[in-house]
Amino acid sequence: MSDTILEIEDLNVYYGKSHALKGVSLSIKEGEIYGVIGPNGAGKTTMLNAVAGFLDYGGTIRYDGTDLAGVNPTQIVRDGLIYCTEDRDLFPYFSVHENLLMGAQFRDDRDTVKEDLRMIYDLFPRLDERREQEAESMSGGEQQMLAVGRALMSDPDLLMLDEPTLGLAPVIIQDIGEALEKLQQETGLTILLAEQNSTFALNHAERLSLIETGEIELSGTHDEFTDNEYVREAYVGVH
Ligand code: ATP
Repeated sequence: MSDTILEIEDLNVYYGKSHALKGVSLSIKEGEIYGVIGPNGAGKTTMLNAVAGFLDYGGTIRYDGTDLAGVNPTQIVRDGLIYCTEDRDLFPYFSVHENLLMGAQFRDDRDTVKEDLRMIYDLFPRLDERREQEAESMSGGEQQMLAVGRALMSDPDLLMLDEPTLGLAPVIIQDIGEALEKLQQETGLTILLAEQNSTFALNHAERLSLIETGEIELSGTHDEFTDNEYVREAYVGVH
């Protein structure tokens, strides 16, 4: 059985009096693609923000065996837990190449940084063609590829992606899905994918959780999800 890389136990987050996450628990195994699906406002981003160290929370988050309570976000990144937010957070006036290099700012293994750049340009040839283009002038899909590429330049062990398909054309969504699977298969990267696009998550994740109004309603394998009547009626074919 694979080792657990991320374990979330009884996670509770409040925004003022609003109880946004209500006792969320899930665990992610090393090397898997894990999907968290659920509608707008369900709490997916809140969960990722808590894991990344951006929010106060109740409960326990353990990454690679270490309790993350009180660990600052920079240290979490240095430890290989990389978060690609929904906003992508690119440096708009920097080129594609410069944005990728910014992803490697905490690394001191210069030789492997070069190899990783090559790997990312192979994975996303569109970025290779546009190395000198400013990030701001890239299309939405290209910016998403760049955000994933920059996250990869941080040499993640666990990559958290928030809504990587949001607003993208189907052909680009397919490219991104294929790239994620290739990364998982060839590098053993673990991916936590939060998605409103349940079809995309179901297409690529081996195990999933469904979150609604701050609570996990169901966790299981891909097949358990696609066989579940409620999931099928409410979430499959929505996108
Ligand atoms: P989406 O897919 O639309 O991004 P989500 O599942 O990621 O949704 P969250 O963004 O985590 O959901 O939001 C969960 C709940 O917490 C929502 O009701 C949202 O309005 C609320 N919320 C999120 N951030 C804040 C904040 N900074 N202050 C107050 N309430 C917030």
